[in-house]
Amino acid sequence: KNLKHEGEKLITTHCSYCGMQCGMHIRVSEKTGKIKGVEPRYDWPVTLGKLCPKGVTAYQQIDHPDRIKRPLIKKKGRFVESSWEEALSLIEKKFTELQDKHGKDSLSVFGGVSMTNEKCYLVGKYARVALGTRFLDYNGRFCMSSAAGGFMKTFGMDRGSTLPWTELEHSDCFLIAGSNTAECHPTSIQMFWKARDKGAKMIVVDPRETPTARIADVHLDLLPGTDSALANGLLHLLIKEDFVDKEYVENRCNNFEELKASVEPFTPEYTSQLTGVDKNKIIKAARIYGSSPRSVVMFARGVEQQSKGVDNVTLYTSLALLRGQIGKFASGVATFTGQGNGQGGREHGQKSDLLPGYRKITDPEAVKYISGVWGIDPEEMPKAGVSAFEMFDEIHKGTIRAMHVVCSNPAVSAPDAEYVWEAFKKLDFLVVNDFFLSETAEFADVVLPTTTWAEDEGTTTNLEGRVIRIRKSIEPLHESKTDWQIFKEIAARLGKGKHFDYSSPREIFEEFRLATKGGKADYSGITYERIDKEDGVFWPCPSEDHPGTPTVFKETFATPNGKANLPAVSWQEPDETPSEEFPIRLTTGRVVFHYLSGNQTRRIDFLMEQCPVPFAEMHPELASRYNMQDGEKIRVTTPRSTMELEVRLTKATRNDIIFVPYHWGKELAVNKLTNAALDPTSRMPEFKVCAARIEKLEQK
Ligand code: SF4
Repeated sequence: KNLKHEGEKLITTHCSYCGMQCGMHIRVSEKTGKIKGVEPRYDWPVTLGKLCPKGVTAYQQIDHPDRIKRPLIKKKGRFVESSWEEALSLIEKKFTELQDKHGKDSLSVFGGVSMTNEKCYLVGKYARVALGTRFLDYNGRFCMSSAAGGFMKTFGMDRGSTLPWTELEHSDCFLIAGSNTAECHPTSIQMFWKARDKGAKMIVVDPRETPTARIADVHLDLLPGTDSALANGLLHLLIKEDFVDKEYVENRCNNFEELKASVEPFTPEYTSQLTGVDKNKIIKAARIYGSSPRSVVMFARGVEQQSKGVDNVTLYTSLALLRGQIGKFASGVATFTGQGNGQGGREHGQKSDLLPGYRKITDPEAVKYISGVWGIDPEEMPKAGVSAFEMFDEIHKGTIRAMHVVCSNPAVSAPDAEYVWEAFKKLDFLVVNDFFLSETAEFADVVLPTTTWAEDEGTTTNLEGRVIRIRKSIEPLHESKTDWQIFKEIAARLGKGKHFDYSSPREIFEEFRLATKGGKADYSGITYERIDKEDGVFWPCPSEDHPGTPTVFKETFATPNGKANLPAVSWQEPDETPSEEFPIRLTTGRVVFHYLSGNQTRRIDFLMEQCPVPFAEMHPELASRYNMQDGEKIRVTTPRSTMELEVRLTKATRNDIIFVPYHWGKELAVNKLTNAALDPTSRMPEFKVCAARIEKLEQK
């Protein structure tokens, strides 16, 4: 296809938004150097020329009038533009004063994963070496942490997909749980359709009949928060109806007998009673999945954003293990990564307990190795901190006095939002790196203008585990700087400049390769040149002559005895269940036109025209019980807060829940209502289910 427009050059890169990381070219005017638009990349093997509405308009954020053009300092409650010198001097002064007075751990860093691997790596090093604080965590805690925890428990390694997605079209069955991929990762749908054209079956687990569930052979419309009951019920049927690959389980799995005993009570009748799903549909789903030679279990935040998210992940993963589907062609387990670099960003040491390469900070050998790479004494390495939401607890307690938020908007994306907003107000000093003034940035004392994805280069890791190149299309606009340059300059002012002496992302990548060497997420054999030549390289890739690993666990798992674990999980209710005062379950999620906290997509006119405000989606039967009409304003209240929303009626949802999308802030933030109960292992909050009350408002 001739994609080139006269007088323009094409820069080959990837979309900035979700984990699909669709291949695209950015069109740049040769005369003015301005970005004119995008063209899909038809030769990108994963997405083959497809882009969704967010992807085709993503370029409009780059030269958007709302871009923060110069550093901002809050003076007398209002932001005033400043020079970089003034902003960085203020940061140096405040950080130094606070640490002198309250100790190293009075500072904290809140990172993100919509950044390149190079920047994600540097966030961890910046927190631990430049600031010397143990308080570091990131927004992936609200996104991928339960999948990561589940995979570590089951496989001993956290790669979000056990197979390359180019194989999906050859699969016979997809069991998709808690993912509305048609809206959240729209370009993945073509892969399922290709397989469906060849006869593949699709089972979708979701309380709502989403566009994904609408094309399923079986839709298991469970009550939010009952995934572990449903997965136990499906495991019960696989065992009872003799669908288990006995040889695989015998040779490659631990703990089968315990799992078998624990799923015994989950008969179709009992599972139906707990989940609200018709028992015949459960049986049908188990038989389709159990009899498919090549099946893939896929899940996302619906399963993971629960206070039992890790348990849910291990149970759904056990379905694939019982069928002997891991490590084989067109079969396996995969998560739909929400953020663009959700996979890479969680491997490089932004988590409170991890160092680069997925090394545990509690492991003395890991500390010794990374200290060597960073050129510090192992004694200087801070200890493990706390998870993202728990950092807000530490602010309320007065332990954390300052925070540096990088590429993240927790004022919208964290649960129990008013508690988080109060925490931001309590801080002595807040610095935010962003290119738009997010709701979090509005709380800041200093806002540092950063570049967009088109103004810098580096690598990301897509949801398959494939490491790819992001290429620079234009020079940084206005006075923006890249996050890595900002870390370098602050580090220098704090006397740690020699540890951050980089002149390009490539130099950071070279150090990062060394830091990952020998770790569970080993990128040491990956080079920029190889990525260009091979259309991406899959980790683990321990040497330059290693081909990379598109399919993991072919021979062995990353556990001590090389076998996968099949954890037995008992059924537990969600943290908050309906009561007389709050009789309905509230669940939250995304719509196709917006990305995460909406800080970017709410600025794109076309996307806002399609979906300008959040809404309360409910079944007409539920609405009629309260005499509510489509389009009316209602009040939704949970034990934490209350908000007004417009009713949207649809029969495509259960008649005992309401659904609200979460892409808006302040009075439109549904996360004011959500529950911050945390999973005991992953520390993931329970975004996906809480108890709520709905009331009709007096109509004007
Ligand atoms: Fe692709 Fe996701 Fe971007 Fe849409 S938002 S174009 S699916 S990467």
